[in-house]
Amino acid sequence: MTPTILEILTKARSKLTGPEARLESELLLAETCGISRSYQGIHPDEELSEKHCLQFDSALKRRIAGEPLAYITGSRGFWDMDLKVSPEVLIPRPDTECLVEQALLRIPADAGWQIADLGTGSGAIALALARERPQCEITATDLSMAALVIAEENARLQGTKNISFAAGSWLQPIKSSLFEMIVCNPPYIPADDPHLKQGDLPAEPEHALISGSDGLDAIRQIIPDSVSHLKPGGFLLLEHAYDQARAVSRLLGHVGFKEIFTKKDYGGNDRVTGGKAD
Ligand code: GLN
Repeated sequence: MTPTILEILTKARSKLTGPEARLESELLLAETCGISRSYQGIHPDEELSEKHCLQFDSALKRRIAGEPLAYITGSRGFWDMDLKVSPEVLIPRPDTECLVEQALLRIPADAGWQIADLGTGSGAIALALARERPQCEITATDLSMAALVIAEENARLQGTKNISFAAGSWLQPIKSSLFEMIVCNPPYIPADDPHLKQGDLPAEPEHALISGSDGLDAIRQIIPDSVSHLKPGGFLLLEHAYDQARAVSRLLGHVGFKEIFTKKDYGGNDRVTGGKAD
């Protein structure tokens, strides 16, 4: 006899530690067996098939071994999308929605801007902006070809046409272009930060997380490089760590950015800093 939905979820919850154990068990069952969370709630006493039991057990083992849920299920929600992810890309975070919001606040609804997203990873930021501002043209770059394959697949799955991709480091593949806005969620964690050993981070690509001894190496390169790629009055918006707002503001000020601002994420941490080119 195979276990019921409720029995298998109860077992999974006891094996997964952490505050999200219940939600994670339900998501694992939903994603690996195609049994939606609402169906689970309505039919707790339904027996699982042999095949579903095996699929769920193997996913649960991977999760217990520390593999991020998003890499097991192959997807993660961001903005209004379900994005494909793999271990080649950073798992999109709710924190980054703060960057999207701050960008949208500055892009008029009918604007036909050229916008660059540097180090796009799964394409999360670029796709959210492209969908919210269909008249804009978004160019998304990434050094990792594997990441670009995922981002392009996400664009295809979302049916997003106003986005193009370019392989290379930050602005290097779009050298001759000028933009009304540049956005970027760069790597910003210091190399010896203990957080790198926690949660999903050990499984994520290091080059998308770590940036030198103070976490600011990429930002120190991107800020001055952006100056010559922005039209007058164009914006640069960067995501950063909770304790980097002052350093990022100073770097923006040094190269002439005006109207420098910082916004907190929904966790109450400084998360996005930006400014306007002269
Ligand atoms: N926000 C991520 C974290 O702290 C890091 C992502 C990044 O470096 N861009 O987990």
